[in-house]
Amino acid sequence: MSGTLSFQGFDFHCHIDLHRDPAALIGACERDQILTLAVTTTPKAWPQNRRWTAKSAYIHAAVGLHPELVGERYSEVELLEKYIGECGFIGEIGLDGSPRYRKTRAAQRDVFERALKRAQTLGSRVLSIHSRRAADDVVELLAQHTTPERVLPILHWYSGSAACALRAIERGCYFSINRRMLEHKAGTALVRRLPLGRLLTETDAPFTTQGNQPAIASETRSTTNALAQILAMDSSELLEILCQNAEHVLRHGGLGNVAQ
Ligand code: MN
Repeated sequence: MSGTLSFQGFDFHCHIDLHRDPAALIGACERDQILTLAVTTTPKAWPQNRRWTAKSAYIHAAVGLHPELVGERYSEVELLEKYIGECGFIGEIGLDGSPRYRKTRAAQRDVFERALKRAQTLGSRVLSIHSRRAADDVVELLAQHTTPERVLPILHWYSGSAACALRAIERGCYFSINRRMLEHKAGTALVRRLPLGRLLTETDAPFTTQGNQPAIASETRSTTNALAQILAMDSSELLEILCQNAEHVLRHGGLGNVAQ
């Protein structure tokens, strides 16, 4: 890869602000050279995350409004739209079709559509998208409101159908893969179908971290190794591909000079 930054791993969906010690985690990402997208679950959390990560070459804060929180945080939708104007990275946003959140479905859809429209209008935006039990609707709304030239969607922890994954690929979606996804057949079958050029890795930490350590570096490493094994590739070869994919995504979000 080009540039002076070197990457040992990629975490395109991490909740740094939900860790017990965000500063320690940020230090660990820097030390271990893990490129990290620090997603947020409410717009109000974004300014703090931006301050924490402002000096970091490895960690970038994204502004989001998590679909599971839309019921109690709907009033922050205008703040979300405002901050999307200040940030190339948006997440965590999306839809959740689980029974528990079904009653907020209309509000979730409204928030997601408004974020998509705003991102499309501005262009050069990257989205980290939650689509649990709602992948078909997510991909349909992406097709309705965005174009791949302006908005680059990353489907985080994708668990929809293979048919929907194919439509998502046609729409320009990337997929961030975590270790948990590779522990069952559906996940391994999925990653074999995805183009190498659309693969990214993530932790969704702290939700996937075992024990009480912020095991970001070791987790991204084990995910990359497990992915390489499933794809019958060398880990170093896969890491190089992930580097190229990550650089493309960062450039799309306006961080073209990170590796200068
Ligand atoms: Mn998440």
